[in-house]
Amino acid sequence: MARMGESFGLHPETPMGTVPPGPLTAVPPPAPAVMEPAFHSAKIATPHIAMTFDDGPHPTLTPRLLDMLAERDIKATFYVIGRNVEAHPEIARRIVSEGHEIANHTWTHPALSKLSDERIAEELRRTHEEVFAVTGYRITGLRPPYGASNDRVRQIAFDKHGYGTIMWSVDPLDWKYRNTVRVTRELVVGASPGAVLLAHDIHPTTIAAVPSTLDQLTAKKFEFVTVHHLLEMDKSGRQDLNLRPPGPKPGALPS
Ligand SMILES: [Zn+2]
Repeated sequence: MARMGESFGLHPETPMGTVPPGPLTAVPPPAPAVMEPAFHSAKIATPHIAMTFDDGPHPTLTPRLLDMLAERDIKATFYVIGRNVEAHPEIARRIVSEGHEIANHTWTHPALSKLSDERIAEELRRTHEEVFAVTGYRITGLRPPYGASNDRVRQIAFDKHGYGTIMWSVDPLDWKYRNTVRVTRELVVGASPGAVLLAHDIHPTTIAAVPSTLDQLTAKKFEFVTVHHLLEMDKSGRQDLNLRPPGPKPGALPS
């Protein structure tokens, strides 16, 4: 495993006039020069939040969820399991084509912190490559299953793919409480500026909670963005704390 400091060569020295490698080669994406801490929420004052869905794509529930999001013109982030992408590539393509973010939730959903370095890398690589193969989308983030992460997992994710590690700040425990009213309430009550809301698009009770959750949060003036967008806002928000309060103009942010 490369150590931090050896990872700075993320922009290879390509001699002038040579053709850059094609998209199917395993070139790391542009990434921060140093590994950042796991991301839980954005320190921002604007009412932006990220809705995230783990463990799909599910053959029937994920398309229903995508319909709900499209009806409201809301973008979300999907932490997909690679073998589910392999089984339902058309749904993965739909996630990407409708403007959502897609990110890595491993190939088989193990607790990464218990695996060897090699197996961690393999879990990430297979999903990274499968998503790229079927959607053309180059993933930039990992959400570790069960939140089971540590410095070693984060370092491998960063070294191999330039990934940030993405956690969450609001957890309705929807996998445990298969109760639509409860899931809705926990998400709505838990939301605050910069929050990352966790849900799973493999439970019917969760999908049933989505319309009311989105509509109540919209009524409370929250605005939904992808996790990638929230990360960008977090960075500019920190700059703004030093340079030009009170905060970033959402319209000025990269999309
Ligand atoms: Zn999961």
